[in-house]
Amino acid sequence: MKKDDCIFCKIANGEIPSRTLYEDEKFRVILDLGPVTRGHALLLPKDHASDLFELPEEIVSAVLTVAKKVAANMKEKLHFEGMNLVQNNGAAAGQTVGHFHLHMIPRYEKDGKNINWVPGNPTQEELDAVKNQIVG
Ligand code: 5GP
Ligand code: ZN
Repeated sequence: MKKDDCIFCKIANGEIPSRTLYEDEKFRVILDLGPVTRGHALLLPKDHASDLFELPEEIVSAVLTVAKKVAANMKEKLHFEGMNLVQNNGAAAGQTVGHFHLHMIPRYEKDGKNINWVPGNPTQEELDAVKNQIVG
């Protein structure tokens, strides 16, 4: 189902043109308009889901299958050395467009980009507490 006021619904379903790298019945992969690196792409499901929490089970399992296939083609053509898959859920996590999307970010040796987080340094007790809160 599409959501009327969603720009990624319009792009995914071809109502707004995009630089499409891959398309099938369920997905479209497009170039990001504000790329972090050369070839930065976004994988969009054609049906609207705002984020991972809303994504239907059968789509969840297909996301990585499509991402792997497209990533292999991108790597062959663009000759990058690595790739970050990034997927933001909610404004607190940096999501700015409320339609699920997987960032596929090619990484080149010495590209000078830093999209990695700084590791924390919790105590053993803090780690135990969060683990217990989640799984008892
Ligand atoms: P988020 O911060 O929600 O994870 O990522 C949104 C991404 O969508 C950003 O990287 C931004 O550059 C990209 N973006 C926003 N609007 C458009 C658009 O209209 N077309 C394309 N191709 N990318 C967009
Ligand atoms: Zn949408």
